Amino acid sequence: MNPNMDYRNDIGFALSADATDPLYKFRKEFLFPQHNGKEVIYFTGNSLGLQPVSVKQALFNELNDWEKYGVEGHFKAKNPWFSYHEMFKEPLTHLVGALPHEVTVMNGLTVNIHLLMVSFYQPQGKRTKILCEAKPFPSDYYAIESQLKFHGLNTKEHLIEVQPREGEHTIKHEDILRAIEENKNELALVFIGGVNYYTGQVFNIKEITQAAHKAGAYAGFDLAHAAGNIQLNLHEWNVDFAAWCSYKYLNSGPGSVSGIFTHEKFANNKELPRFAGWWGYPANKRFLMEPGFTPAFGADGWQLSNAAVFAMAPHKVALEVFAKAGFDALCEKSHRLTGYLEYIIDTVCAENKNANLQIITPRNISERGCQLSVLTGNNGKKIFDYLSDNGVIADWREPNVIRLAPVPLYNSFEDVFVFGQLLNNAFKNI
Ligand SMILES: *Cc1c(COP(=O)(O)O)cnc(C)c1O
Repeated sequence: MNPNMDYRNDIGFALSADATDPLYKFRKEFLFPQHNGKEVIYFTGNSLGLQPVSVKQALFNELNDWEKYGVEGHFKAKNPWFSYHEMFKEPLTHLVGALPHEVTVMNGLTVNIHLLMVSFYQPQGKRTKILCEAKPFPSDYYAIESQLKFHGLNTKEHLIEVQPREGEHTIKHEDILRAIEENKNELALVFIGGVNYYTGQVFNIKEITQAAHKAGAYAGFDLAHAAGNIQLNLHEWNVDFAAWCSYKYLNSGPGSVSGIFTHEKFANNKELPRFAGWWGYPANKRFLMEPGFTPAFGADGWQLSNAAVFAMAPHKVALEVFAKAGFDALCEKSHRLTGYLEYIIDTVCAENKNANLQIITPRNISERGCQLSVLTGNNGKKIFDYLSDNGVIADWREPNVIRLAPVPLYNSFEDVFVFGQLLNNAFKNI
């Protein structure tokens, strides 16, 4: 049942777990910030993934081709810029479980949420409502709110936020399904974060999609905290659309490009409303520069602009590291490594009377990725500052949550063990 029963809070355990970890070698492919001459314990890959060693060369190659070819780099560069975005189809199909024509990369995440909602949020008659999880990421909330306003609707009447039950932090799956069912005559769109950024809770995308469709609504997902973190099977789950960013678990650098998924069933749909641009036009006819937009087949038909090569170059090599590691192996390590962090936190709490930490992320491994969100008592900020002063980069969320993400691609069992020692010291010293 529990693959993690053998955990021990000692360095011998951590070192031997690292020694037998087939993914340990990937740590060397990333650059770690330093603290007092040593690598930090970096637990914020859920916010900004570390820089792959290969990124500098990848950027340098593009600079070189720009120097060498000027505009002709669109066709003569080693990776021709004209079709640069096409290189992402293959790796992304594996990451999100999609067909090649269902995915592309473009713009930033919030931009893409808007573009996709232009197509998939079409309030009509009584069917006007959007359903999301309580406390979505603020940008998603602003996007939803402004889309409603754009259609002349207000959030109070037209946005349904499914809440956790009294005294709970995460949302019951059955409550989401019930809210969809209860609003089935008025629901236009279900739009949920695949993994909640605050609690780390993984939502059941497959069943939420089924319920939304049964209610006659579209189902879309923000996968910012899911892509590269949990197994996704968007095509099979029949998800209508999704978008994610590439700078969190996908390690592609600050503000790097976003990915989108639109299901195959819309690939040839020319009726969906959309905001168009020349890169969404069929590539073989793009340079005829003709008036009158027709969308390219599949997700490509949502593109607006030519490829942002300097954002995509890091994305390309970052995805190559993922491919080398293999996603199944990553998920397996993720369960074990995050389980170890859970064990260590529980152990520290058992040993210190003043350690009033509560893990609010689900303890069931099928309902979480690698992030654990820890609710602290009123000494929380002091604990967090102690950890920071001692070389831990974690994430403080007001009012009192510490988010910790041991990332299987570059974090080690030793990282988790040392973190536990520091956490223990923190409670002894404050
Ligand atoms: C990180 C994150 C964003 C960030 O949006 P950008 O447009 O990339 O700045 C949006 N939504 C969610 C759920 C996120 O986790």
